[in-house]
Amino acid sequence: KTVGFALVGIGKLSMEQLLPAFAKCEYARPVALVSGHPEKAKEQAAKYGIDPKNIYNYENYDTIKDNPAIDVVYIVLPNGMHAEYTIRGAQAGKHVLCEKPMANTPAECAAMIDACEKAARKLMIAYRLQYEPVTQKAIELARSPEAVGVIKQVTAEGGFNIGDPTQWRLNRKLAGGGSMMDIGIYALQAARYLSGEEPVEVTAISYSTPNDPRFKEVEETVAFDLKFKSGAIGSCVSSYGYGCNRFRVYGTKGQIQSEPYLSYQGNRLWQGNDREGNGLEITPGNHFALEMDHMAQCVLDDKTPKTPGAEGLQDVKIITAIYEAARRGAAVKIV
Ligand code: NAD
Repeated sequence: KTVGFALVGIGKLSMEQLLPAFAKCEYARPVALVSGHPEKAKEQAAKYGIDPKNIYNYENYDTIKDNPAIDVVYIVLPNGMHAEYTIRGAQAGKHVLCEKPMANTPAECAAMIDACEKAARKLMIAYRLQYEPVTQKAIELARSPEAVGVIKQVTAEGGFNIGDPTQWRLNRKLAGGGSMMDIGIYALQAARYLSGEEPVEVTAISYSTPNDPRFKEVEETVAFDLKFKSGAIGSCVSSYGYGCNRFRVYGTKGQIQSEPYLSYQGNRLWQGNDREGNGLEITPGNHFALEMDHMAQCVLDDKTPKTPGAEGLQDVKIITAIYEAARRGAAVKIV
């Protein structure tokens, strides 16, 4: 038995990663597309065996309620559109898989959770790394008394040098913020899932190159520190100015490190301070296929996803506190 997915938004991620990944799925299959570009949608539908009758646009999106082939809507739109399309999807009776970051504000996230609860539909946030074996091995080692011991610090970085100044990622309304919303969220996720803890307080410094046309509305770089309940510290960086893609977990017994850790493939993990060869041998998997299959299995078995709406809300809540800490130049408590 398989679960039918409608991709909502067919941009770069949908076309280059998600549509091809369905071929590796056991339970998820693409059955519909929602797009503002009918020609592109027709082309992609033909390429992936999707019935052209199941092509929708943003205006007639709500009529998916009459299409029983669609079980799940996968929201792959700019961040500022996630809330509206998740809520309309749930109201049309569909389960929702939504890309990260969940939405621009904690209030939007709460409204999404509420809409899915009211409609008795599942809501999962697409944190692909939590479904793939390298991250899962890192979490296992981070918890291991022999490999790491008591965790004292997690360092995590996420960044790339962003291009075109006119893209939605640099538009405040559509992106919700700058690098922190898009790529810094991976560093925040890593600090949270590696430590296995929630931060109680954050501090942050934000910087944007003056007169750079890319950073008129959103920030370039954020350096942020997290204080966890146990006393462990998270030291993280997010940037749209330069490439960085690694983490380290330091404990009383030892350490683990990964670089890259957030790429679509080829992520590497080492135990200890030295980096020998390519690191631990871990059979890789397609992140997107694993993630979509998880959602499909949750629908089939009536289970709660491992990364539900609450997980997305928690990140957006912490990011909001990080922005506030940077603005005020003072520590902000997370309540
Ligand atoms: P993209 O710009 O390539 O695609 C966005 C799509 O939204 C396009 O098809 C565009 O036509 C459509 N759209 C509708 N209204 C729009 C508007 N007003 N302005 C701009 N586009 C509009 O973006 P993408 O890289 O595919 O990202 C989409 C979502 O996926 C984002 O939330 C992003 O954070 C997320 N994402 C996640 C990963 C991951 O690894 N999980 C990777 C990339 C992107």
